[in-house]
Order: sequence, then C-alpha cells, then structure tokens
Amino acid sequence: MRPVQAPDLSAREVYALCISKTLPKVKARLKALEEDVVKAADKFEAAASTVALHALAELKTNPSDEADRVQLTKNYTQRLANKDHPAREIYDELKIAGRLCPLCAHRDVETLDHQLPKSLYPLLAVVPSNLVPACRSCNTLKSDADPKGSFDQTLHPYFDDISKEQWLFARVHEVAPACVSFYVKPPESWDEVLTARVHWHFQMFGLAELYGNQAGRAMTSLRYVLKRKAPSTIPTYLKDEADGGADEDPNAWKTAMFQALASSSWYINGGFALE
Ligand SMILES: [Zn+2]
Repeated sequence: MRPVQAPDLSAREVYALCISKTLPKVKARLKALEEDVVKAADKFEAAASTVALHALAELKTNPSDEADRVQLTKNYTQRLANKDHPAREIYDELKIAGRLCPLCAHRDVETLDHQLPKSLYPLLAVVPSNLVPACRSCNTLKSDADPKGSFDQTLHPYFDDISKEQWLFARVHEVAPACVSFYVKPPESWDEVLTARVHWHFQMFGLAELYGNQAGRAMTSLRYVLKRKAPSTIPTYLKDEADGGADEDPNAWKTAMFQALASSSWYINGGFALE
C-alpha cells in the first residue's frame, strides 16, 4: 500500500500507439471507439479520485458488440503487453514506476494490474490510470474483482496515499516459539470509508499472512542475534530497530514487528530464545 506517481501519459496517446500496427479493418473498428475510450478514461479518473468506481457500471455494457470488446481487450494482451509491439515501451514504463509492488509493499513488480478488470471494462483495457504496477501474486489475488460500493475498493496507488500515518501494527503471541501477527489500526483522522477500504485491501491481498510469514523468518534469525547480546542491551536494540524502521517507513511489516517485540517484556526477558 505505497503511493506511486501517476503516469504522465494520456489515454489517447497510449490507445493510438496500441492500434497503430493493426490491420486496416481492425484499425478502423478500434479508431471508431477512440472517443469512447477517452471519455471512459476521464470518468475513471474522476471516479477513482472520489472513491466512486462502483458507479461506473454503464462502462460495463459499452461497447455492446462482442467483436469490439475482444479487440479492445487485445489492445492489452496482444499489443501493450507484447514484447514485439511498439506499445510495449509504455507497459515497461508503467511497470518500472514501482520498484516494490505498491499493493503489498513487499514483493517485486512483475506485471500490471487493472484496477478495474479489462474483462468487465474493455474500454479501460489500456487506459494508463487503470494500469498499476504489481507483483504476480497481488495481480492473481485481485483477479477480476469489481467493487460493489465505496467500501470494497482496494487502494489505488495513483490516487490514494496512506503512507504518512501509521496504520499497520503487530502483536506478539507470547508462547514459544514467539511469533507476531499483523493487523490494521486506523488513525483517528480516517473516515469509515477509508477504514473499510484498508481492511478490505489488507484482506484481499492476504497481507496478514504474507507479513506473518516474513516476520517468522526474520524472528528465527533474530533469535540468534539476541542470544549473543548482553540481556541489558536487548530493549535498546529492539527499540532502535523499531525507530529506524519507523523513520524509513512507518507501515513496513518490519517496523511493526520490531515495535511489537520492543514492547513485549515476555519477549525481551527470554521469550525470544524459546524454541
Ligand atoms: Zn504485491
């Protein structure tokens, strides 16, 4: 859940590049849809910035012609994402905008995810603001999810920024071997829609499990580090790690893990060593 700078690309220019190498008959069909694509892009951007993607239902039936819908979808699968097509440079440009997948903030970017699925919204298949850099797992987990209301809209990295305030926390399970679990605790400034969306996002992408597994591995290594330290230095060591992490990213799983460990007297006083 990291913000990403929105791409400085117009829907019209990307669409034009995608249809540039098509056969004359296909090109004519797609050219006739260009204005609909540009209008759909404008509607999408207005809706994404007001958490109203669920109100774009009319785009699902446009165009109604199945052959048009197939060609619009091919703009992505056979043109934008095709390594031998000139539009591929746009795909690569969108991909490298995020180093880490902004949806899970953990794995590397490997693909592009459609914020609204191309299978249901073919007019948005190659609209840049609908294409988000993502890891393959997040892309697969989200699949063709289609929001029904404001509350089930996963965060959009170009439009939503929750990186400034801490919302990710962890708690220690004080039984051997020690482990932590992660949860969302919304800051007071969030309204109920944002709160619900972040919970939804957290659940959709399986972040409690992803972060829990990472923390489990990190804590196995940490056990050996802590066993070699003087007991009196352990609280400061854990707090320094938590504070350093919070400076860098208050919502990194490692930050939440060290905060939780630093505040558990059970862990500090020998719980860490129990296997
Ligand atoms: Zn991811």
